[in-house]
Amino acid sequence: MAKKDYGKYKQVVSFFKKKYLSSIKLKVRRVPRKTMDGSFIKQKTFYSVYINNSLVEDSAIDAFLHELAHVLSWSAKLEHAYGENEDYDDTLHDSVWGIRYAELYRMYTKEFAIKTTHNG
Ligand SMILES: [Zn+2]
Repeated sequence: MAKKDYGKYKQVVSFFKKKYLSSIKLKVRRVPRKTMDGSFIKQKTFYSVYINNSLVEDSAIDAFLHELAHVLSWSAKLEHAYGENEDYDDTLHDSVWGIRYAELYRMYTKEFAIKTTHNG
């Protein structure tokens, strides 16, 4: 097993924090969670992103990219839907979010020279 210092995770978080610094301020923390891999909260002047601290490093990175895609695709429409819409989960993971996630994933694999493997 590799050393669990989460060095790569920290580099990824810092890379994207810097990348979006001019438009979005992010505060990212690994915290204990029972079930959720990640979550985010829109604060007044910044976004808090929470990543489950029991995730292995690559999963933590994936959860961070997932949540960052939410932050970048967040809108007043979604905020309004929260809590009163049964389809909230569908709305949350709509194609706007999906495209953001794909963009982030590509930036991540390019910047960190990640080899993606596919079987088909
Ligand atoms: Zn999500």
